[in-house]
Amino acid sequence: MRKKIVAGNWKMNLDYNEGLALFSEIINMFKDEATGQQHAVVCSPFIHLHSLVQLAKGYHNVGVGAQNAHQAEAGAYTGEISAKMVKSVGAGYVILGHSERRQYFGESNELLAKKTDTALAHDLTPIFCIGETLQEREANQHFDIIKSQLVEGIFHLDATQFGKLVIAYEPVWAIGTGVTASSDQAQEIHAFIRKEIAAKYNQQVANDTSILYGGSCNPKNAPELFAQPDIDGGLIGGASLKSRDFIDIVKVFN
Ligand code: PEP
Repeated sequence: MRKKIVAGNWKMNLDYNEGLALFSEIINMFKDEATGQQHAVVCSPFIHLHSLVQLAKGYHNVGVGAQNAHQAEAGAYTGEISAKMVKSVGAGYVILGHSERRQYFGESNELLAKKTDTALAHDLTPIFCIGETLQEREANQHFDIIKSQLVEGIFHLDATQFGKLVIAYEPVWAIGTGVTASSDQAQEIHAFIRKEIAAKYNQQVANDTSILYGGSCNPKNAPELFAQPDIDGGLIGGASLKSRDFIDIVKVFN
């Protein structure tokens, strides 16, 4: 059965102490207020990961993840962090293919396919992000773009490997803009993604895949978005930096 997941993406925000303080608040609120039918995941900058994992010990429904990991096992890649390193501090997740990585760091579907393989080889759960730009939506290319991101990024995996992924649909025009996809727009794409997974693998694999929505999700719009049949939670940027907002989104699944 697929999981309900609310994952925070802190991006390049919060110094070490700020990050620990926010995560402690999140854990305490989760313990007191969430029913535990959902999973909360925080994807922090690398420097926080080890400490967040320590704080999360004993909370089975709270996960910690990185926001990127290199495709190579190891080597002369100054400034990079490997999937093995991320795993070695106890993190369970890694965001791959976020549109900011695609846009600012030139990450292609081809590269992301390699990153996905390496992350899976180290038993990390990739939160694999896909989504169209505004220009692509206006040109009515959004279904083609989503399909090519799936085919070139993750459809080389076998069904067992694919079953370990979480997918996040994040329309680029909705990220950090305050403009959210309507629940109908989001549901339409989520259903399309699930249909493509069923066609490539089978209906069971499709039914078992958690597909998150991301893009200006907040405590106000989350209930309607998460009520859609193919939306299994959210990838949350801005609102994950405030413990109250993040936990209120998590609690949509109470
Ligand atoms: C994100 O960065 O993945 C994101 C969805 O950001 P925001 O919620 O701020 O739009």
